[in-house]
Amino acid sequence: MDVETAPTNTRPRRDPDAELVAFLDGRSVPCPRCAYDLRDIKAARCPECGEPLILKVGTPRIRFGWLVLAMAPGCFSGVAALFVMIPVFVTFWQRLPPGHGAPWPVMVGDAFGFLSAASVVLMYRHRHRIMAWTARRQGAFAAGVWGVHVLMFVLLVGALWLMQ
Ligand SMILES: [Zn+2]
Repeated sequence: MDVETAPTNTRPRRDPDAELVAFLDGRSVPCPRCAYDLRDIKAARCPECGEPLILKVGTPRIRFGWLVLAMAPGCFSGVAALFVMIPVFVTFWQRLPPGHGAPWPVMVGDAFGFLSAASVVLMYRHRHRIMAWTARRQGAFAAGVWGVHVLMFVLLVGALWLMQ
C-alpha cells in the first residue's frame, strides 16, 4: 500500500534523473564538462568524467546584454567610491575645516558612487523583471543609467576643475 500522502496534486511525482536518462535514450549529446557522448547512459552522471548531469530548458539567445550594460557603471562607481572613501574618511576623522579636506565634489561623488552600487544590487534582485521587459525598454533603461553616470561625472569633474 502506498503510504505517501498526495493531497490535491494527482500528477505523478517526477524523477529528474529518470527524465534525463529517458531524454538521452538514443540521443547523442556531449557532456558539458568533457564532451563525452552521453547517448544511452543509464544514470544521471557522465560515465567518462563522473560529472552529475541535469536536464534543463535553455534559450538559443543570450539576452543579458542590456542588463549587464546597465549594471556596469554602478560596478565601476562602487569600486571607485571605496577608494574615494579614504580622503572623505580622513576629512571627517580629522574634522578638517572647509577648504582643507576633500572638496565637496569628491564627497558628492563618493555618495553617488555608493548609491550607484546600491542600484546594481537592486537591479540584480529585480533582474528577472528587467529581463522580461522588451529589448527596446531595456536599451532605454541602460542608456538612462549611463546618461546619469556620464552627466554626474562631467558635473563633478567640471566643479573640481572650476575650484582650481
Ligand atoms: Zn563528462
